[in-house]
Amino acid sequence: MIPYGRQSISEDDVTAVCEALRSDWLTTGPRVEAFERAVAGYCGADFGVAVSNGTAGLHCAMHALGIGPGDEVIVPAMTFAATANCVRYVGATPVFADVDPGTLLLPPSEVERLISPRTRAVIAVDYAGQPCDYDALRRICVAHKLFLVADACHSIGAEAAGRRTGALADLTVFSFHPVKHITTGEGGMVVGADPKLEHRLRRFRNHGIDSEFRQRSEQNTWRYEMIELGMNYRITDIQCALGASQLTRLPHFLERRRDIAARYDQAFAGSPVRPLATVPGVRHAYHLYVVRVADRDHVFSALRAAGIGANVHYIPVHLHPYYRRTQNTGPGLCPNAESAYAEILSLPLHPGLSDGDVQTVIRETVRAAGG
Ligand SMILES: *Cc1c(COP(=O)(O)O)cnc(C)c1O
Repeated sequence: MIPYGRQSISEDDVTAVCEALRSDWLTTGPRVEAFERAVAGYCGADFGVAVSNGTAGLHCAMHALGIGPGDEVIVPAMTFAATANCVRYVGATPVFADVDPGTLLLPPSEVERLISPRTRAVIAVDYAGQPCDYDALRRICVAHKLFLVADACHSIGAEAAGRRTGALADLTVFSFHPVKHITTGEGGMVVGADPKLEHRLRRFRNHGIDSEFRQRSEQNTWRYEMIELGMNYRITDIQCALGASQLTRLPHFLERRRDIAARYDQAFAGSPVRPLATVPGVRHAYHLYVVRVADRDHVFSALRAAGIGANVHYIPVHLHPYYRRTQNTGPGLCPNAESAYAEILSLPLHPGLSDGDVQTVIRETVRAAGG
């Protein structure tokens, strides 16, 4: 089976992890700090706070921004459920926005339409790896005093107006799950520029405690205070050793992903396989390569039968039973997301695909779609 996404682990990655295992610190040690600085530096942010997964990062971001009961946060309907769930974790309400029918990104006009006196923040999702229109979103957020959070779990390395994701919103969240661009097994990071937010993120990651074990051992003190109710969302040095090694390979991963996407684009032109629209002037990071086909379920099954692990991203979040039950959402709320959902298919896209694999995916997809 050719999977839709897969990690790429090199011998250098393995060596880096083994070095961490032989070191003094297995968790919250120097490798966590080094990875945080490296990611922040790469994307043009002032700090990074590494956490146990991307979902934890989204939860940390909501907490650090002080979002809570009675607040509303605008989220796109076409995303992974975690984007909305983090709003529920802090007792606030996600308000589902419809997406642009061409790109499946969050349109600024839709954000404006949904702003209410309770709105506190917007979470933009760089669906498939393409950055949202952050200039427009930022203008709206500034005018209405809202926080702008980027769920950039698909888009590390993407660029808009010469700036990378991580430097485009108040807080940006990355995931290092194995299907994402770079992996730590499980992992995530919140990056930003405001030192007050950094402080709150670090404290929430570590039980709400005002210092870390390593700081206390360096200062020869056992004293600490728990200031607020936090979580244990720490990530290990073993994982961050892998992350730092993977980050050095990210430019190569991006190049290969963009190269494969360009081959798909060219091969599907004029066929019944319709790639999503791309926005001119931005650099797409291509976490996913998503196409629309008329008879999606048939094409999906035909590809699976041909050994191609196509997938569907995503069931619109407001259609999940949990949200239908708790927020009374349902079909008709976000028509563009719903009609896209009937047709979308994610084709294999990862740096380990050979040129032959790409040709196989193209041939089988066009054939299954009746081209
Ligand atoms: C992967 C992903 C997440 C969650 O990341 P985890 O590391 O799996 O918790 C959140 N949002 C989006 C859009 C994602 O793709």
